[in-house]
Amino acid sequence: MIVCKFGGTSVADAEAIDRACAIIHSKRHRQPVVVVSALGGATNALLDLAPRAAAGDLLAALQLIEQLRDRHLREAAALLVGSPEADDIAAEISTTFDELAHLAEAFRTLGYLTPRSLDTVAAVGELLSSQIVAAAFRHRGLPAEWIDARKVMITNDLFTRAEPDIDELSQTVQEFLVPVMTRGAVPVIGGFVGATSAHVTTTLGRGGSDYSASLIGAALAAEAIEIWTDVDGMLTADPRIIPRARLIERIRFDEAAELASFGAKVLHPSTISPAVQRGIPVYVFNSRNAAGKGTVIAHDAPRHPVRAIAGKRNTTLVNVKSARMLLAHGFLRRVFEVFERHRTSVDVVTTSEVSLSVTLDDPANLESVVSDLMEFGDVSVERNRGVVAIVGAGIADGSRALADALGALGPVPVHMASLSATGINFTLVIDDAEVVPAMQRLHAKFFETEA
Ligand code: ADP
Ligand code: ASP
Ligand code: MG
Repeated sequence: MIVCKFGGTSVADAEAIDRACAIIHSKRHRQPVVVVSALGGATNALLDLAPRAAAGDLLAALQLIEQLRDRHLREAAALLVGSPEADDIAAEISTTFDELAHLAEAFRTLGYLTPRSLDTVAAVGELLSSQIVAAAFRHRGLPAEWIDARKVMITNDLFTRAEPDIDELSQTVQEFLVPVMTRGAVPVIGGFVGATSAHVTTTLGRGGSDYSASLIGAALAAEAIEIWTDVDGMLTADPRIIPRARLIERIRFDEAAELASFGAKVLHPSTISPAVQRGIPVYVFNSRNAAGKGTVIAHDAPRHPVRAIAGKRNTTLVNVKSARMLLAHGFLRRVFEVFERHRTSVDVVTTSEVSLSVTLDDPANLESVVSDLMEFGDVSVERNRGVVAIVGAGIADGSRALADALGALGPVPVHMASLSATGINFTLVIDDAEVVPAMQRLHAKFFETEA
């Protein structure tokens, strides 16, 4: 049994869904479970229209709904020419967008949105794409059954970033997925979407279909989890920034997790951990190049000083200076409680005898964080910062890689640096505007010249 997840570009239109179908056909003997994202860009459009309606621009919201309706109807019609199911799917699409238009009117009347209502809107993308894909598979001779993710992925009620209940999942996969496979059919389920035990729709956060696939794979003790996307695998850097980035054929779980959390969007940061816990290899493949080698993420990949470069822009640096700091028992705990209280996750951390510096990806609650931190000492905030991370399990096996990294960076001012004790990454906080040139120089140093 394997889990195959197709991302947005891999189900963006009828042609892409045709390719996905051919891929699953070739894997029939391995009992695939298919997890799909929304049609590429659909989630962005859905999350765009809801606030517009709430802000009073109902017309703009309705226009976006009609564009989405047309797109879904068009791709479904192209896929289902001559299928007895074509009318039913078209009716389902139309009903869904009629309901969405009513919701948009309600948002306009209310004048505000809640995370709960945003999730109801966002989930439409995966709920429709999965039904279209299942019908398209059937029309191409692949017995497929649509599974409603809201019955399988039971989550808490932290809307827009809900956490699935793993115990429930191990039962719901037995109840809803296993019988389909036993019948010899291919279950097709939307990623990203879940529901609370009270049947209220939730989502797992942006990019969450990878996480759905990995959780389902772990719950089924799958042989492999395959992430089908629009690049050849995990590369030595984001190819949109570094067009010369190279394919990494084997990468360790810890390196891949580190890369994902430092901005390599190819995998949602939570994807790796369910797979690691079960020792299930995760593959990343290109749905436009199905014959490619792809990347395998596994325990036994070779150890390299530098495996890849990642970068993140728009981070905020917060410094706390306090004379009575680190020697005091419980000081760090109390400081970190402030971040916890304001639901702000901290990214890179460094300390000195009298100061603590952290970076934040999401400064939404910065004001409250800063005001609470002032209790401990002087607080300063530096915006317009960015992070580059040099990732490799052997980064600290000698000083060469570190020296090379600093040498490649040249005169770029470094505001903060962190080397993990487990030696998996060397992270540097620099000016936001320097992130791209720094990544280019680091990539050139480590991957474009002979050692
Ligand atoms: P999907 O819709 O299939 O989930 P995403 O857009 O979420 O696809 O992720 C794929 C994208 O991740 C690629 O197009 C690429 O630009 C980006 N990416 C960032 N870092 C890396 C990396 N190190 N290796 C591969 N892709 C990367
Ligand atoms: N469609 C969702 C998003 O765009 C989830 C995903 O594609 O993984 O964030
Ligand atoms: Mg993604």
